[in-house]
Amino acid sequence: MDLIGHKQQLELLRKARSMARLAHAYVFTGPDGVGKKLAALLFAKETFCTSAGPRPCDECPQCKKVESMNHPDLIIISAEKKDITIDQTRQMQSSVQKFAMEGPCKIVIIDEAERMNSASANSLLKTLEEPPKDTYLFLITSRPHMLPPTIISRCQRISFSPLPTNELVTYLVSRDIDNKTAAILAGVSGGSIGMALSFPADVIGDVVSAVEGVWGGAQDSDILEVAQRWSAFDTNSVLAILLGIYRDIALLKNANILPLFSSMSKAIENESEKLSPSVIQENIAIIKSAQADADTTYNKQLLFEELLFKLAGSHAG
Ligand SMILES: [Zn+2]
Repeated sequence: MDLIGHKQQLELLRKARSMARLAHAYVFTGPDGVGKKLAALLFAKETFCTSAGPRPCDECPQCKKVESMNHPDLIIISAEKKDITIDQTRQMQSSVQKFAMEGPCKIVIIDEAERMNSASANSLLKTLEEPPKDTYLFLITSRPHMLPPTIISRCQRISFSPLPTNELVTYLVSRDIDNKTAAILAGVSGGSIGMALSFPADVIGDVVSAVEGVWGGAQDSDILEVAQRWSAFDTNSVLAILLGIYRDIALLKNANILPLFSSMSKAIENESEKLSPSVIQENIAIIKSAQADADTTYNKQLLFEELLFKLAGSHAG
């Protein structure tokens, strides 16, 4: 379990545990992929670890059971299909009524808690209203506004911020990613380790060369071909890279900061000289609005076509 950062959040929980003042329910909020669930798992492992030395020891049977998600006192709920169903909540409720089997308490982690449908949320509410003894719940969510306020108000909220870029770069380099790529990944993933690690590296190269093509005056047919190719990629990744490149132009123009996408620094320099600040801001706004549409769009190819033609328009002439 590689948790990077979030020392403050863990310290807060450890302190509460050592004073026997843990809240019965916490909600961990923050962007996807920053380590919320990992923090809850790490906390569970420490809590169950039986080592006399530093915890977690990663050696004792308790630690190993948590690591393999096999600890009888650790209940992890995640959406089976789209929703977290009432059957899942009920099963958890009946199991927390029993005594802890091996650990000092039971720990329940509800991942993507906003996926509880209204029936399961209602049934969870009962658990929160009358918390069973020695049971601690951790609701994990990047969309707390989608949880009923009645649930949120019964949980203590701990927020997880995106990681600082330099911490993320150091971590990525420790995972054998070269410095240049690590800097780009950290920049485009908005401080989310999960996103940085799942980023398809070949997509970066593709987007960079396609953007250079567009800036160099690509034909309409080239743009259509790019849009078709991108429609097979993860939309959010492509848009994050595009946004990163246009932020580079803005930063170079406004603050004279060197481009993150150093392989295309010459082209970025050209564009930052050529485009007015308002056009650069407009382009960034166009990409952001595509990001907002990305989750609901049925036709990714059309989304990219529209976006690329708009961007190409501002570079022409
Ligand atoms: Zn241990």
